[in-house]
Amino acid sequence: MLNVVLFGPPGAGKGTQADLLVQKYELKHLSTGDILRNEIKNKSELGLKAQSYMDSGNLVPDRVVIDMISKKIDNNMDVKGFIFDGFPRTTTQAEALDKLLDEKCIPIKIMLSLTVDDEVLIKRLIKRGLESGRADDQNQKIIENRIKEYNKKTSPLKDYFKLQEKLEEIAGMGSIEEISKKIHSALDKI
Ligand code: ADP
Repeated sequence: MLNVVLFGPPGAGKGTQADLLVQKYELKHLSTGDILRNEIKNKSELGLKAQSYMDSGNLVPDRVVIDMISKKIDNNMDVKGFIFDGFPRTTTQAEALDKLLDEKCIPIKIMLSLTVDDEVLIKRLIKRGLESGRADDQNQKIIENRIKEYNKKTSPLKDYFKLQEKLEEIAGMGSIEEISKKIHSALDKI
């Protein structure tokens, strides 16, 4: 299976690039943010648990997202691969994902890490907030907290995947097409 971790700070363009990859490589896109927002919309128990964390821009507890992603993997074993978007976000999540996938002999093949400057991220997120109405994109304080959470808890995962020789850094500034070309050539090398 072509299992890809799409990595980068909030606003790096992970969702946009994931949509393009889904079409080209027939992969299943698993975005923990999208799954959680859907749970909130449906007012499920899981959604209720996650909402306060998300509204303030903090990470949802590891156990909640790990169980959620594990179910999604089990229910989609007929695909050509998974794009993990917004997951893993902590070392605990990365270790849990490795364990889940190793048990099924379908390891992560590559981590594509999109790099974008902080000022550009904040501008993109504020713009997205105006267009999409996403609650956590509406307020600069919440946006800054998400970037802070990313820098503190998530960004160290680059080293985790680098040690496994799976890290591929992609400059995430430029046009959508330019970035997706770089991603395609990284994937075609595998
Ligand atoms: P972005 O990357 O733009 O911040 P996401 O849609 O990936 O947006 O995530 C939105 C929110 O959902 C996060 O701020 C966090 O509260 C929660 N979330 C998503 N994925 C995870 C995860 N893997 N671990 C913990 N919390 C998560």
